[in-house]
Amino acid sequence: AGSGKFFVGGNWKCNGTKDSISKLVSDLNSAKLEDDVDVVVAPPYIYIDQVKSSLTDRIEISAQNSWVGKGGAFTGEISAEQLIDIGCNWVILGHSERRHVIGEDDQFIGKKAAYALDQNLKVIACIGEKLDEREAGKTFDVCFQQMKAFSDYVTSWTNVVVAYEPVWAIGTGKVATPQQAQEVHAAVRGWLKENISPEVASTTRIIYGGSVNGSNCLELAKQEDIDGFLVGGASLKGPEFATIINSAT
Ligand code: PEP
Repeated sequence: AGSGKFFVGGNWKCNGTKDSISKLVSDLNSAKLEDDVDVVVAPPYIYIDQVKSSLTDRIEISAQNSWVGKGGAFTGEISAEQLIDIGCNWVILGHSERRHVIGEDDQFIGKKAAYALDQNLKVIACIGEKLDEREAGKTFDVCFQQMKAFSDYVTSWTNVVVAYEPVWAIGTGKVATPQQAQEVHAAVRGWLKENISPEVASTTRIIYGGSVNGSNCLELAKQEDIDGFLVGGASLKGPEFATIINSAT
């Protein structure tokens, strides 16, 4: 891990029921978590209020998406203002499922990030290459292009955590090796240094996501430029998510 405070996010995606979420919250409330780690969970929108009122304040709450501008006549959307209103302080933007399943593009995601930051939401900004892009040797190009799109709109990086999530590793059980992840994290930090500033490069946390679990987290967490994790599947199991949180080194 690097010098910034370790950060672990749990992305629950489109999973859960009132009952299963109440069980997960109670497991998280009773888990022993290291102090020196920022912990955030992202329930589906409709359960945020339930989680907010039952989960320990030790854990912050994130949305999995937010609308690109001020709320209004946008059927089915949720605005940054509404998230702030219900006590949700974070939002995940640019997740690969939003990019590649729903079809959001770089510019749309960059604008969303800028708007969310403007409304005082903190942003988990996701980037990552698809398998064919990795195999074509384009991993850095894709990640840098996605970083550039964020930087075209975002004016302050203080409230941004970057999540490197290779698409081929998300929900596949095929985790990047610690070396593969470290290589990209170091490159993204280098990109921040050259294109934003040395200060932003050293203070911005770059977390890894893609099939992180209780068994592979420790080796990944040891890498110099891995400042934490974004966890999907394993964040739905309270004790395993706690193990990942406590892997901070
Ligand atoms: C994610 O959705 O951000 C993710 C990393 O999923 P998983 O841990 O299930 O691969």
